[in-house]
Amino acid sequence: MSENIVIIGAGPGGYVAALRAAGLGARVTLIEKENLGGTCLNHGCIPSKILKHSADLMLKCLSAGSMGIKISGEVSPDISVLMQRKSTVLENQRKGLAGLLEKAGVNVVMGFAKIVAPGKIEVMTDPEQPISVAYDKLIIAAGTVPMNVTKFAFDHEKILSSNDILSLDYLPKSLTIVGGGVIGCEFAFIFSALGCEVTIVEAMDRVLPLPGVDESCSKLILREMKKRKIKVLVDTIVTRADAKNGGLEIFLDVSPFTKSAGKPKNPTLQSDVMAVCIGRSSLAKELGLENIGLETDKDGWIRVDEYMQTAVENVYAIGDILGPSHVMLAHVAYHEGLVAAVNACGSKEAPKTAMSYDAVPGAIFTMPEIGTVGLTEKQARDQGKDIETAVVNFRVLGKAHAIDQIAGEAKMIVEKASGKVLGVHMTGPHATDLIAEATLAVRKGLTAKDLADTIHAHPTLSEIMGETALKILNTPLHG
Ligand code: FAD
Repeated sequence: MSENIVIIGAGPGGYVAALRAAGLGARVTLIEKENLGGTCLNHGCIPSKILKHSADLMLKCLSAGSMGIKISGEVSPDISVLMQRKSTVLENQRKGLAGLLEKAGVNVVMGFAKIVAPGKIEVMTDPEQPISVAYDKLIIAAGTVPMNVTKFAFDHEKILSSNDILSLDYLPKSLTIVGGGVIGCEFAFIFSALGCEVTIVEAMDRVLPLPGVDESCSKLILREMKKRKIKVLVDTIVTRADAKNGGLEIFLDVSPFTKSAGKPKNPTLQSDVMAVCIGRSSLAKELGLENIGLETDKDGWIRVDEYMQTAVENVYAIGDILGPSHVMLAHVAYHEGLVAAVNACGSKEAPKTAMSYDAVPGAIFTMPEIGTVGLTEKQARDQGKDIETAVVNFRVLGKAHAIDQIAGEAKMIVEKASGKVLGVHMTGPHATDLIAEATLAVRKGLTAKDLADTIHAHPTLSEIMGETALKILNTPLHG
């Protein structure tokens, strides 16, 4: 008799787990309360990259003259066409996903799922008639929503969540972004390229203040923000936002999270709208976890072991609902989904598959992009590792000049004794694609020599990896 596996949430964690479990012969039910594809497809990765694509195009059009292409007439964004294109792409992707799940034999149930007893879930497809669904094994992949702050709560008109900003039907003249993390920085470049005056307010002392992002990336991206006239206030917090003159008056204070002293130069900001991008909140409290005795931590994140197994037998959890300690990225959710599905389908005696977080690439779609993997220089030094680092600028590459994108650099961190690549952190054109080679190197324990000995096609941006590896070996060619 095959396992009866139920999965709550059809984001990149849940739908991938469903496909893998079905492929392994399980009977699979996938429950989704909103849309197939979850945050990633509907409010995250994909819509933001659709906007980014248009923003890139806008900048290219504006510099077309110097590339020998004449554009007659005004170049300006058309937000309604942009949003229409976004809707079409998302709809097609959702249809594609539905087709994949159907082909795999996954039973998709649309509705709100709540666990009511061990082995039993109620799905609110129609409030009058909840459907009862039984499970042998449960995989929770319910994800998160944008974090709402009571002091300046979302009104969805002037104070916006990341979901709201991805569905705007007009372009505000000015936009203040609270939070200079990944989502905030991506929006800053997109909306600045589309013609908005953008200000970022960040509580920490740098933009992208994430432990996994090397400080060199933050510095370089701050320089690029200045070039694009994006204002950045670090060491600063927003305390309140009041309606004023059809827009907002935003009140600032010095951050309690950093060592900076003194008050902000200007205690208020005027802005048409404010987007709050300061984090995500867990959806665990809505799931009825108390009915199976599953506790979360104080922030609502579910705890699992390396097999994605919770403290309750036969219940697994994956994806963003595990919180920041597990890296909240779509491709991480995806891999956790594969691990949970394999373990849920295995017998008690079967060897289990463990999730590895050793080489998780980070892709940040700023302008230029950032790609990261492995240890930052600071992390390596804090761990007491004896390391060598090398930095090479993208401007040494012919391809970077050909495509007129010379801003950026790649930093490689290598263990001195073994030569093994511990981390690569790059800011530059197509860095989110280029990081794949570095990810393989970190995952497989390759050395800088392995990379230097690998022939990189010319002229390509991938040459940055070969050049940086050569520099580590003290045999630089162009960098
Ligand atoms: P989710 O994608 O959040 O899916 C969870 C699903 O569960 C949702 O569809 C939800 O409706 C459903 N659900 C919740 N509760 C219930 C219930 N009770 N019953 C039924 N269904 C339920 N990551 C990247 O890797 N790259 C990027 O470029 C990137 N860009 C992003 C940009 C933005 C603006 C945002 C907000 C996020 C971005 N992310 C990106 C993060 C990425 O979207 C998440 O890491 C990923 O979606 C997490 O997947 P998940 O399956 O854990 O959860």
